Formats: sequence, structure tokens, C-alpha cells
Amino acid sequence: LLGQMMDVQLNVSTLLVHAARYAADTEIVSRRIEGDIHRYTYRDCEQRAKQLAQALMRLGVEPGERIGTLAWNGYRHLEAYYGTTGFGAVCHTINPRLFPDQIAFIVNHADDRYVLFDTTFAPLVATLAPRCPNVKAWIALADDAHMPELDAPLLGYESLVSAEDGDYAWPALDERLASYLCYTSGTTGHPKGALYSHRSVYLHALGAALPDAMGFSARDSVLPVVPMFHVNAWGIPHAAPLAGSKLVLPGKDLDGKSLFDLMQAERVTFSAGVPTVWMSLLTHVKSIGARFASLERTVIGGSCCPPSMLETFEDEYGVRVIHAWGMTEMSPLGTLARLNWEQSQRPLEERRRLLKKQGTVICGVDMKIVGPDGQELPRDGVAFGDLHVRGPWVIDRYFSKDESASEPSALVDGWFPTGDVATIDPDGFLQITDRSKDVIKSGGEWISSSELENVAVAHPEVAEAACVACRHPKWDERPLLVVVRRPGAKVTREALLAFYEGKVAKWWIPDDVVFVDELPHTATGKLLKLKLREMFRDHVLP
Ligand code: ADP
Repeated sequence: LLGQMMDVQLNVSTLLVHAARYAADTEIVSRRIEGDIHRYTYRDCEQRAKQLAQALMRLGVEPGERIGTLAWNGYRHLEAYYGTTGFGAVCHTINPRLFPDQIAFIVNHADDRYVLFDTTFAPLVATLAPRCPNVKAWIALADDAHMPELDAPLLGYESLVSAEDGDYAWPALDERLASYLCYTSGTTGHPKGALYSHRSVYLHALGAALPDAMGFSARDSVLPVVPMFHVNAWGIPHAAPLAGSKLVLPGKDLDGKSLFDLMQAERVTFSAGVPTVWMSLLTHVKSIGARFASLERTVIGGSCCPPSMLETFEDEYGVRVIHAWGMTEMSPLGTLARLNWEQSQRPLEERRRLLKKQGTVICGVDMKIVGPDGQELPRDGVAFGDLHVRGPWVIDRYFSKDESASEPSALVDGWFPTGDVATIDPDGFLQITDRSKDVIKSGGEWISSSELENVAVAHPEVAEAACVACRHPKWDERPLLVVVRRPGAKVTREALLAFYEGKVAKWWIPDDVVFVDELPHTATGKLLKLKLREMFRDHVLP
């Protein structure tokens, strides 16, 4: 017996329509790359998104075609999110921090028809244009007074948008149609695309807005530091309009001072970003002896949030940290660390122990850890295994533009193998111990490099640390700690190794420490472990 309810399709456009009606005068504030602050409302945003849709259709863009974006967090980028997906085109957000070779590969692989770009990226576009012949024109997100020079077909965003009247009704699209295309950063091999549907983005936004996920309300002022060019800024551009939250978009200046000033001025209550961003924010706030005027909570993820950072935020500034885990292939939210009623009654130390982990899944996502034989491992907080997930916002296969020759499914027995190694404890809390390539295999046992890094960065004289495997004649692999000292710090190898005593099992303590001036990072600011492994694999241990 079928249910007898309406079959309303879940469309991305309806999130903005809702905000434009019920949070009509709620502000979207952007720090523009022109340098000034731009303010308008959800009502204005929807109007301009419709004008953009009309302009793209006038240029001949068909539903299903990809429109690239190379842009910071700002109101024009937000209009591009909705002005493309709203009429059935696909918004392909491109990470400008990737190498130009990778970006050219991505633009061609996605077969982008037009690419919208912030003028800061004009030099990059100049190198891409000759290598991306299928792009019909590059559209500068600027008015006539700020147009860059380009030796390729160039259009101006403001002149395109202002030529339209916005008298347009969003069509009801099949919810299974594609909406966004995001590529992984491809630290190994070519980047691969995750093609989200309207349905997956809509459900992910509902999940993200839940009280124990990001917990958005219509009284929140939300500042995504996580870029809109990386996994849709963790879904915030969808969850904020869904809830009717004020949006504060920081543009290109993501240093501690710029972020802090904007947070204070716009009474920001919620923010989200990767640990490196918070590190510079905390350093700035400390250096000027300030307090956060309105910030209540922040989601930290993308790589492991050092426990010491969580303590600083909570104990010194009264800001609640929500540690989260996810990935491009998961839209990206998988788990967030929030306590249930019973857990919240436990002693502080026990609560902290849980909150430092990556947390529990959002309802809808399912996870398990499996051993080398594919068998599920116990949820005892001890057994390590490969983490597999499934859910309505998890990919099935990577993007291929040719539907008749599609990529094979990426799934194993109906589950997506994340490439992460983790434990799950009896409370259901996930703890990521490593990327599977990064675990250190010592005498047949696994050592978690990220746990060793967390201990090192808690040392007051350590700015950054990485732990990698070195070859060892007896144990196969042993951990080596690579450290960047804080400016002026003189901490020694011996002092650092002693710092591990009592914090990890004795046999986990690194065999040696190497001091370096800086560590290599990926385009998204994560440690480039592959490079470090190559550099130090044959390091001679004492
Ligand atoms: P990329 O950086 O390759 O573009 P993602 O942003 O999708 O890709 O990165 C996803 C990966 O980042 C996860 O598989 C995991 O290894 C790591 N990661 C994300 N959040 C956390 C976290 N809170 N703790 C540890 N690792 C994390």
C-alpha cells in the first residue's frame, strides 16, 4: 500500500525561496574583494539569482550543463550557487588553491560551459583560458569599472545580471537531477568529482541544520570560514537560508585579524573552519587580549582538531567547539561530537574525552569499521578498522560526463570505503586514527600518527607537527616526529620525547624528532603526508 501524500520534489531553489519569504529582510553581509562591506537581504539575493539564471539561459546554457566558479565566499558566489542550480544547470565549484595543471584538468573533465571568477583570480584565468577551449566565455564577478584584462572571451557579471528583470519562476526539477559538482583535491592521482543531486543537497542541509549538528536558527549570525569552493562550505550556504540565519561572508582575507573584526562587527554566533584557520584566529585574539563578543560555537573539522585547541576555546573564551568529520564524497558532513543527555551528566574529564573525538553520525548516515577481511569490527573503542559509510548524501560513483560510459560504482557491498581508519566506541563516537595510507605499522600493530601529532602540538613550544613512518629493520616501520618550533622556541628532541611519557603507550613514542622550518601542505591546508613520507622514509633512526 503506497502512502497517499504529495510527491513534492526536493529542490535546492526552495531553500532560497523559503528564506526570501520568511527571512526576507535578514542580511547577507559580504566583505568584497573590492575592499568594502556589501549588505543586502535574502529577498535581494533571490531576485539577483533569478536574474543570473535568466542571463545564463540567454547565453544558451542548458539544464545539466556545468558552470564553473572560481570565487571566495561572497554574495555573488551565493547567487551563482542558486542562479545555476535553480534552472537545472550544475554549479561546479573549483578550488583555486589547486595547481593550475589540476584546475585545467578539472575544468576540461567537468566540461564547464562558462566559468565565473573573482577578479583576484584573473592571472590564474589567463593561464587556464588557452588550455580550456570548451569554455565559451569567462565571466568576471565584477561591474564594468572593475573588469580585468583577458586574452580570451570575457563577460562581466554585473552587466549580464542587470540586463535581466528577474521575472522568473524556478521550475520544479526532478530531485535526482545533478546540482553541484565538487572535486577532491587529488593528493594522489587526478582529482575526482562528486556530483551531488538536488535531493542529496536538500537532505544534507536539513541534517546540517539540526540542533546537534550545526544547530542553526533564524536568530543566528553565521560566518563560514570554510570556503564555498571546497565542498560547498560544508553545506552552510544551504543550511543558513533553510533556517533563515544571517550570513556573513568573509571574502579573501582569512587572517586572524580580518576574521575577528568581522565576527565582532556582525555579532557572529556561529562559525566553521579547519584547525589552521582557528590557530591564527586564536593567536590574534590572544595577542590583543580581546574576548569574543557574540561567538557561541564553532565547528572545527577537515583535519583533526587538536585537543589543546578545544580546551583553549572552551576554557579561555567560553566558545563551544564542535569537532566534525566528513569528506567531499559525503557532501561533506558525516559525524559531529555532541553529547546526549546521559553523556552530558558525566564528569568533565569524561565529557571532554568524548568531545575530542569526531562524534556520532547525523541521522541518515550509517557507519561501520571493517577489518582486512571485510568483516565488521566491534564498537569497543579499541579495534581499528577501515571506515565505511552509507547514506542519502554519500556518493555512489565518481563523476563522468558520459552517462553511457559511467565510472564503476565506488561502493563495496553497498558501502563507501572512506580511506580513513577509525575506532567506534560503545557510545557510538567515531575517532579517526589516520588516513589508511598514514597509519604506522610497527611489528604488525598499528600506531595512529594523528594521535602522536595531537600530543606534540599540545606542547607550548611546538607550532606544527607531523608524524610519519620510517623504515625499520626489526619493526618494519617506526614513527618519526617532524616538528616546526614556535618562533624563538628552543625545545629539544629529548624534551619532546619525554613529553610523550604517560600520554601514549610506551611503544608508540616516536623513535626520533626532526626539526624543520615548515611542513608541506595540500591545497586545502592539510599536511602533505605523502611528500613527508617520501622525504623521511629512509631517515636513519638512532
Ligand atoms: P580533500 O582534502 O582531499 O579535498 P576532503 O576535504 O574531502 O578532501 O577531506 C576528507 C578527509 O579529511 C577525510 O577522509 C579525513 O581523512 C580528513 N578529515 C576530515 N575531518 C577530519 C577530522 N575531524 N579529523 C581527522 N581527519 C579529518
